[in-house]
Amino acid sequence: MNQELQQLIEISHFYGRNKDFVIAGGGNTSLKDDECLWIKSSGISLAEIDEDGFVVLSRKSLSKIAQKTYSNNPQIREEEVKEDLNSCILSKTGRRPSVETSLHDLMDYKYIVHTHPTLVNAVMCSQKAAEYTRDLFGEEALFVEYTDPGYTLFKKIFDKIALYKQQYNRTPNLLFLENHGIFVAADTIDEIKKYYDFVVEQITKSLKVTLPDSAEIRNDELCELANELNGFNSMIAIPKTSNLIKTFTLNKEAFSPVSTPFSPDHIVYCKSKYLFAEEPNAAFIKEAITSFNIKNGYLPKVIAVKGLGLIIMEESEKAAGNVIDLFENMMEICLMASSFGGPQAMTAIQIAFIDNWEVENYRRKVAKQN
Ligand SMILES: [Zn+2]
Repeated sequence: MNQELQQLIEISHFYGRNKDFVIAGGGNTSLKDDECLWIKSSGISLAEIDEDGFVVLSRKSLSKIAQKTYSNNPQIREEEVKEDLNSCILSKTGRRPSVETSLHDLMDYKYIVHTHPTLVNAVMCSQKAAEYTRDLFGEEALFVEYTDPGYTLFKKIFDKIALYKQQYNRTPNLLFLENHGIFVAADTIDEIKKYYDFVVEQITKSLKVTLPDSAEIRNDELCELANELNGFNSMIAIPKTSNLIKTFTLNKEAFSPVSTPFSPDHIVYCKSKYLFAEEPNAAFIKEAITSFNIKNGYLPKVIAVKGLGLIIMEESEKAAGNVIDLFENMMEICLMASSFGGPQAMTAIQIAFIDNWEVENYRRKVAKQN
């Protein structure tokens, strides 16, 4: 294996195994030379990635995607782009490249490490994301306001980078995406780490809140409830509470700030609606789950039980673990965003786009198999 790919795998593990930067299958990394781009395949986790987890694409073919005109219908357009993206693949593993592949090709640096760090998203999912990005990282950091993922986002960034290039004669090292995360690009792994350290330091300096402890607290009543719900609709029920969780499960008003997702990742793992149960009673909660399912068309994964904590209902323990991690991430972002003008959740239209997005469904499916 070439040494640069080995270094990419190491940096992927470094950030991928740190939940402050990457949770579950989120984020992606890439390496490029003049002809090829190596990028994490969709649904593979950075924490576990090896050589086979990367897809190799032709950069010459990739560059054509930016020039083409696609359908105005988002569903058809994404299908067309996906086909074109697949036609750029040189590797023969049958894996699909990350949906953010074309973005990686736009930045003229050897390595790119894209993650969804909690600290960064405290700024990106806040009311003043753009202002704070400029204040903390200067004019050279490129900020991109929330845009539906896929081709629309690619086109927007394509145009923004072209403007940036006119101004600075190079592509940016730091690309911040509202309600999403960060792209860090550099020619060496050392520089990538330095940029990340700088980002963490700058945001930490501006934080004005201390988070409640997220260490698990055992609660017998919550465990008993989870036992009774276990197996309902063939799902397993996992209880979890902590000081962090209790801050939000105190009552319905306290839960309200996390009743809407902040980033596409939250929707991918937790879905976009969560059940708040007023009564800690299994029969009551089962009935509420049934009504929730009729109303929303899916079973709730996150159930907040008033005064007690969370019960996560999923198909497996591993999947439940991811839901907990992502939902706690929502809680942390929500609290920290108060230092940056207050939290800013995704809008109903933005959420509907992700809910209907085939690419994310694919990511969810592959993530489940792994
Ligand atoms: Zn992302």
